[in-house]
Amino acid sequence: MKLHEYQSKQLFARHGIPVPQGIVVENAAAAREAARALGLPVVIKAQVLVGGRGKAGGVKLAHTLDEAEELADRILSMSIKGLPVRRVLVDSAADIRGEIYLGAVIDRALRRVVLMASSAGGVDIEEVAAKTPEKIVRVAVDPFIGLPEYLARDVAVAIGLPREHWSEFIKIARGLVEAFHAYDASLAEINPLALVAADGHLRLLALDGKMVIDDNALFRHPELAAMRDPDEESEAERKARAADLNYVSLDGDIGCLVNGAGLAMATLDIIQHFGGRPANFLDVAGGAKADKVAAALRILLADPKVKVVLFNIFGGITRCDEVARGIVQAIEEIKPSVPMVARITGTNKEEGDRILASANLITAESAAEAAQKAIALARAAA
Ligand code: GDP
Ligand code: MN
Repeated sequence: MKLHEYQSKQLFARHGIPVPQGIVVENAAAAREAARALGLPVVIKAQVLVGGRGKAGGVKLAHTLDEAEELADRILSMSIKGLPVRRVLVDSAADIRGEIYLGAVIDRALRRVVLMASSAGGVDIEEVAAKTPEKIVRVAVDPFIGLPEYLARDVAVAIGLPREHWSEFIKIARGLVEAFHAYDASLAEINPLALVAADGHLRLLALDGKMVIDDNALFRHPELAAMRDPDEESEAERKARAADLNYVSLDGDIGCLVNGAGLAMATLDIIQHFGGRPANFLDVAGGAKADKVAAALRILLADPKVKVVLFNIFGGITRCDEVARGIVQAIEEIKPSVPMVARITGTNKEEGDRILASANLITAESAAEAAQKAIALARAAA
C-alpha cells in the first residue's frame, strides 16, 4: 500500500526527521487560509500516489495568497498520470541550496534492507541509477543492529556532504531506517532531502516523502490501513481484496484462476512459454470454495481483455471434487460467455474431472495442455 507524501512525512517526523509543518486541504479557499497561517511564500503540492508530480505541474510555488488560491484551484482540477488530485499539501516554501536522495529499500539478492543515498537528488533516482550509477551510495542494514552511527556517517562522507551536516544526516538516516522497520515498509524515501537556507544558516529538511507499506503486515498497523487511498486501487483490485483474493491485473487475454501463489506464478510462466499472454495473476487463497471461486470468476469476467478463462487447480486439503463443485456452482450463477479450460489434479481428481466435464468445461490433463488449449481459444477469439 502506498502512502501519500503528507502521510509519509508525518510518519517520518515521529522518528526525528525534520519535515515542513504543512497543511493538507481539499479546496482552494482552504489553501488560501493555510498559506495565511503558514506565511508566504508556500508550495502547493498535489497529493497523488505517483512520482514525478513536479514535472507534471503538480508542485508550484505561490508568493501571494491570491496565487496560492489560484494554483491550488488549478492543481485540484488536474489528473496526474490518470489519478485525480483530490488534496493538496500546502508547505512553507524552502530556500533550496542542494538536493540529496535518501531511500531505504529491500534488496532481495542481499536479503537486507539497503540504504541508498546520492548527492544527485531531486530528480528521478532511476535516471541517476541508469546514467551515473557511481553517484549512488549503498549500505546494507543488519536486521538486528539497524543502521549504526558509523555506517550512516560513512554514507554522509561518500556523498560528499559537508562535515557540519553529518550529525543531522546521521539522525535522519537512522530515523528513516527506524521508520522503515517500525511500519513494515517495503520502501521509505526522501527525495529531496534538501539543504535549505533559513535564519542565515543551512540545514537539512525532508521536502518530499514516499512510503510503501507491505500489505501483508497491515494487520499490525490498523492506523496505517485506515490511511489507504481508494484511488490507489482499480475496481477489480478493490473487490479482490474484499474477497481475500490475491489479484494482480496484467495486460494479456487469458484470465487465470489458480489456487496457491506458487502455482499461479508457474501458470503465468507456462502460458508465456507457449506464446500466450495472461490477463492476470490470481490466487484463490485458502481452499477454493464455491463463493470464493464465484467472486474470482466475476472479477475475471468483468475484465473486457479476458477472452478465455483457465482454471489451474491443485486439490490438496480442499479436494478436487469440492473445488469442481465450486467451479460449476460459480458458472451456473454467472453464466460466462467466454470459453473455459480447466486442469485439476490432486485428491479425488477423477470425481473432479467428471463434475467439470458435465458442466461443459474443456478439461486438460496437464498444465501445459491446458495452457495450449487456452491460447488457441484466445487466438480464435481475437
Ligand atoms: P515529485 O516531483 O513528485 O518528486 O515532488 P517533490 O516534492 O520532490 O517536488 C519536486 C521539486 O519541487 C523538488 O525537487 C524541488 O526542486 C521543488 N520543490 C519542492 N518543495 C519546494 C520548496 O519548498 N521550495 C522550492 N523552491 N522548491 C521546492
Ligand atoms: Mn520528489
